[in-house]
Amino acid sequence: MNRNLFYLFLVILASCTEREKSSPNVFFAGEIVNPTSKKVFLSKDDKVLDSVRLDENSRFSFNLPSIEEGLYHFNHGNEYQYIYLGKGDSIQIRLNTMDFDESLVFSGKGSEINNFLLDFFLANEEEELLILSTYFQMNPLEFDKKIEELRTEKLALLSQLQSEAELSKGEQEIAEVIINYTYYNYKEKFPFEHRKRTGEKLISEMPNNFYAYRKDVNFDNENLTYLTPYYNFAKSHLKNLSYIGCEKKCGIENEEVISQLHFNRHKLSLIDSLIREKDLKDNLFRNVAMEYLLRGGDTEENNEIFINDFHLRSQNNKHLGEINELYEGIRNMQPQKKIPNLLVKDFDGNNISLQEIAKDKKVAFYFWSGNSKRYFKDVVKRVSELSKTNKDYLFVGINYKTDDITWRGMVSNSKLDKSSQYKADDFKELTKTLIFNKRNKCIITDDATIVDGFTTMWAANF
Ligand SMILES: [Zn+2]
Repeated sequence: MNRNLFYLFLVILASCTEREKSSPNVFFAGEIVNPTSKKVFLSKDDKVLDSVRLDENSRFSFNLPSIEEGLYHFNHGNEYQYIYLGKGDSIQIRLNTMDFDESLVFSGKGSEINNFLLDFFLANEEEELLILSTYFQMNPLEFDKKIEELRTEKLALLSQLQSEAELSKGEQEIAEVIINYTYYNYKEKFPFEHRKRTGEKLISEMPNNFYAYRKDVNFDNENLTYLTPYYNFAKSHLKNLSYIGCEKKCGIENEEVISQLHFNRHKLSLIDSLIREKDLKDNLFRNVAMEYLLRGGDTEENNEIFINDFHLRSQNNKHLGEINELYEGIRNMQPQKKIPNLLVKDFDGNNISLQEIAKDKKVAFYFWSGNSKRYFKDVVKRVSELSKTNKDYLFVGINYKTDDITWRGMVSNSKLDKSSQYKADDFKELTKTLIFNKRNKCIITDDATIVDGFTTMWAANF
């Protein structure tokens, strides 16, 4: 399954249908080849339900006496995977972390729907390449025809499975929803992707029936809130509606959003009027806030207008703490502010703050981790280029998520100057205080005062 599907919002669908089987117990077990951690977690929605340790043979098992039928997910290390569990199921898996999705196999009672969904996601990964490279360039009618072919083909496979394996009502529904919303999402994206690829004007008037499915879209079903294909569809749909709405009534000129502030507030108001279900609404509001704030390009005044609007519309948002923290963090990273006083460790093991490092000089901070040797090579090369053309700057490397020996070894084997290399031990603190949201981030300071807190090593203007 596409791991990218799982970045923020994971899975679900609790179904209320009952499947009569001999025992209500659910048994879920398996073997992990090349384990990357000691545990396996089982979750539903955004909550972890249970976890078990791997035994000495890298095997695990969950015994779940009172679990509702529905879609769950399990994870091991950084890998996530959906699993549908119904009463009386006894499911075994085997997977190799070296090749997670492709190696996974379900067997035992209840495995049919799981293998079906897995096959669907793998097939969709392939199809997506074709859609991105070819279909999005087609005209709307051709595109619609292709997407409908793919969708009906998958529904036909599902009904074939239904006749062979007697799926429960819940299994049938979840599979249908996943198939339908996966393809509807492509349709919502079509106008933008088509323009990007062909350079043609955005098609704001689609042929009749192109969006026919919209009349059946239901944003009130709480069982779907954490289902990734559905959530992705909701995001694309809202983007589409706000863009078209803005184009007709407000600030789009030459097909460019003139004001990100306006466009994102327009989106908030649309979510407010269209979505009733509390969690879905909270999650979508959060998504708009994160995207807008993390662009990092808007002024402090505009950020404030946005956050005030956000508070007005979503005062009980379950992500409020996180959003407020992000807003504060971004405020502290604006030009003219002192760089946050994060503590890092120098090559001799002494603690030193970023303000001390940046005092009385011009500094460009860049970041790297021992996890990616290739990126490290790129960034070292880039530092050496930039140092030649910007001799008045000190280029300071901040390492994260790397053990001491690896860090020292990598620095020593490179051409980097040890005296400008530091290590942040608390990655969470680093991401929070410096709004570290992309690895090529670069922060430019002059006498510890921020000049640009949101540029990259490749975009920076010195
Ligand atoms: Zn607007």
